Amino acid sequence: MKPMGSIPADYRGDDGELVIGGQRVSEIVEAAGDTPLFVYDLSIIEARIDRLRTAMPAGLLIHYAMKANPFPPLLTAMAARVDGIDVASQGEMRLALEAGAAPGLISFAGPGKRDREIEAAIGHGITLNCESANEVERALAIAGRLGVKPRLAIRINPDFELRGSGMRMGGRPTAFGVDVADVPALVLHMISEGADWRGFHIFGGSQALDPDALIEAQAATIELCARLATEIGMAPPLVNLGGGFGIPYFPGEAPLDVERIGVALAQALESHAHLLGDTEFAIELGRWLVGEAGVYLTRIIDRKRSHGETFLVTDGGLHHQLAASGNFGTVVRRNYPIAIANRFGADADETVTVVGCLCTPLDRLGDHVGLPMAGPGDIIAVFMAGAYGASASPSAFLGHGPAQEILLGG
Ligand SMILES: *Cc1c(COP(=O)(O)O)cnc(C)c1O
Repeated sequence: MKPMGSIPADYRGDDGELVIGGQRVSEIVEAAGDTPLFVYDLSIIEARIDRLRTAMPAGLLIHYAMKANPFPPLLTAMAARVDGIDVASQGEMRLALEAGAAPGLISFAGPGKRDREIEAAIGHGITLNCESANEVERALAIAGRLGVKPRLAIRINPDFELRGSGMRMGGRPTAFGVDVADVPALVLHMISEGADWRGFHIFGGSQALDPDALIEAQAATIELCARLATEIGMAPPLVNLGGGFGIPYFPGEAPLDVERIGVALAQALESHAHLLGDTEFAIELGRWLVGEAGVYLTRIIDRKRSHGETFLVTDGGLHHQLAASGNFGTVVRRNYPIAIANRFGADADETVTVVGCLCTPLDRLGDHVGLPMAGPGDIIAVFMAGAYGASASPSAFLGHGPAQEILLGG
């Protein structure tokens, strides 16, 4: 048997059945009419936001990086509860606007922005987090043509990186952001050309579970901004410190101590208050806010033995939950937490491999996991499905189509 990650503490069973958002899984599935489906519990997201606001320094803005989960009802709920939405394409920008986010609270990062995307953002008064000098020039030219003052921030490629991050995006040659040495001249240039300089955006990495690594990266980010403010002769109006807060997907991983990060961040801000006293700060989080609030439910279609091993074959798979199959940015495949939803809390009886319905051996949702006895008709719950699930999976692959998505408590 191989270990699996821990089920988030937010979930409970009622009479042996998993409850999500106050409803039993059998009720949810019956109302949905079919499996597979993603179920998101807004009350879990609200609890994360409340915890974060309590933990972080007063006045710190909390942004939602919507690529983690762009499901429109969830996005509408987020837009009403956070201080900004970070988008990465014109498609996401459209969804954020439709979800009711105020244009002034939307920022648009990402390499390779096309002219029409830049034009749409500037036209709406959305802040562009510029990834290169060329992008700044194009934004200035487009704004000139539109006759508006563009809101431009610079995304910085920091000269350090987030230790222990699942996905490092700084401190080396990269498509993301402007190298530190080029930043002061570019800021002065955009201001002289009439831009409304909105500050800096610095994103060092993702899925970090070591609070000390995040504390170090935040302190280094604030230090860097103070240094740049001195060089430029002006403090940035806003610094987006990035995020990178991870969640525990796998065995041996523990939830992040955000309270400790908040205390350290308050100290770091305090120690640079003489240079950055009027600067607003934000963090942008995706998976930490929504990842644990989602469960992917899929029904067992077949149970079979092969060469002495038991396989549970489901109606879902990696076309919906690529990350749980271990094929989304992981080197070694490990098991996400999974359970038999209609025997929730029961002891494991056997070791089984849970697979999806796709014709590829990559399609494994649980590899040699210990589960209570189950067979056709029973429902498998795959946890940690609220972020990088439906929208980060190849739903067109093999033609089964996308999964339904449901927001409960919204
Ligand atoms: C993806 C991304 C995020 C969100 O990362 P999470 O790991 O989901 O918190 C934040 N900021 C930027 C710039 C990103 O590209």
